[in-house]
Amino acid sequence: MAKFCSNCGKEINENAVICVHCGVQVNNLEENKIEDKKAKNSFVFGILAFLFCIVPILGFIFSVLGISYGIKGLKSNKNKGMAIGGIVLSILSVLVFIILVALIFSLPTF
Ligand SMILES: [Zn+2]
Repeated sequence: MAKFCSNCGKEINENAVICVHCGVQVNNLEENKIEDKKAKNSFVFGILAFLFCIVPILGFIFSVLGISYGIKGLKSNKNKGMAIGGIVLSILSVLVFIILVALIFSLPTF
């Protein structure tokens, strides 16, 4: 897929940070802002997933959203850390839920 410079309109390398034709920074394009937003969403859903990890279904929905936004948000240059954080929190909350359920079921019945 070809990418075009937002300043001079000439074709540039997909991974180029600076346009080779005019020298303008090209990593702040519209699509990158969308990725930044997705990374931010991932982090928010990751926190929500962790807060609601004891709530069945709701915690799981937040985890799925956190992971799916996180994967898309990994392309973000600015908020990549947030995307990773969102994925980690989402996976952690699923693990916490599984451990809690396992503990409840392993409790001796009186
Ligand atoms: Zn240019």
